[in-house]
Amino acid sequence: MKVEDKLALNKFDVDRDVHITVNDVVCVECELKPCVSVCPAECYVIRENHMTFSYEGCLECGSCRIACPKGAIDWVYPRGGFGICYQYG
Ligand code: SF4
Ligand code: SF4
Repeated sequence: MKVEDKLALNKFDVDRDVHITVNDVVCVECELKPCVSVCPAECYVIRENHMTFSYEGCLECGSCRIACPKGAIDWVYPRGGFGICYQYG
């Protein structure tokens, strides 16, 4: 089974309250931007030389918070009942 097929078994109930925020002013000074390469859900994307973030597809793995060298990521789990539900299908 491919990774894409496994991810398709997950269910998201996206919370209106954002559970991850990024201080993108700090990101301007970040050369390597490791968040882009470590996020398995591709929530971090470089667009026109700026790092953009969207939380909706987050897998709640915590990799971005660990990888960020500048402490720019404010990270909590979504509220109970929201976020990802693994192996739903
Ligand atoms: S690693 Fe941290 S500081 Fe660097 S671009 Fe990503 S969120 Fe911003
Ligand atoms: S917690 Fe994991 S899936 Fe969510 S944004 Fe960070 S790296 Fe991506």
